[in-house]
Amino acid sequence: MSRTAIVTGGTRGIGRAISLALKNKGCKVAATYAGNDEAAAKFKDETGVNVFKWDVGDYEACKAGVAEIESAHGPTDILVNNAGITRDGMFHKMTPQQWAEVMRADLDSVFNMSHQVFPGMRERSFGRIVNISSINGQKGQMGQTNYSAAKAGMIGFTRALAQEGAFKGVTVNAVAPGYIATEMVSAMNDDVLKKITAQIPVGRLGSAEEIGDCVAFLADENAGFITGAVLSANGGQYLAS
Ligand code: NDP
Repeated sequence: MSRTAIVTGGTRGIGRAISLALKNKGCKVAATYAGNDEAAAKFKDETGVNVFKWDVGDYEACKAGVAEIESAHGPTDILVNNAGITRDGMFHKMTPQQWAEVMRADLDSVFNMSHQVFPGMRERSFGRIVNISSINGQKGQMGQTNYSAAKAGMIGFTRALAQEGAFKGVTVNAVAPGYIATEMVSAMNDDVLKKITAQIPVGRLGSAEEIGDCVAFLADENAGFITGAVLSANGGQYLAS
């Protein structure tokens, strides 16, 4: 059956691969983004996926944005909370602004977006919410107290909302990627990349497509018995559930 899906930050990087994995499953996909109009227009041209621009850290903007998508595509069956940013710095030097920006984009956004679609999913007795966390939310990462806290917060949110949705056919899961060969990671110099790869037992970075496939699996009709789970996709770098 064709399902409607929203992927936040769905025009670039991992989000782009998630949007395409869901499209390939036959979903009607809406990909959102924050400000990179050029990347969004290119994505739309290449794939035919509809794109929508707003700041997912803004509750009212999420409300208006989801309403616009639903009037064009119908009620949301699948929400992927993928949009995220980093503002790294050692904690003793971290500014309140660095902290607040990451909390807003990475964690407030999960409330802002899920709150728009969860009531309708409950009423229709079907829903899939997939939150893109991170290995650094599981293990903590030096220089990323803000990001690690936000990504760990997503996992707590996932486990709590899973319990609220379970009886109503709404599953809520998280995917925790390790190092993925996005533009940002691939642009690092060779020595840094070698050091990173040496820490990954499978001996390579992950691909965005591999994360897209994890999401497509959790979003499937047949994944209804999986909820509150954290799917680690990190090449064996950190063995946690
Ligand atoms: P990118 O920086 O490549 O893309 C981020 C996307 O999120 C863009 O589409 C961006 O929009 C959008 N976005 C950012 N902030 C907002 C906002 N406030 N409102 C709306 N949209 C926003 O990220 P990645 O593909 O690298 O990462 C995707 C997710 O995966 C993130 O949550 C990240 O934390 C997580 N992750 C990434 C890993 C990696 O190795 N890359 C590892 C583990 C987790 P725009 O294009 O307009 O800027």
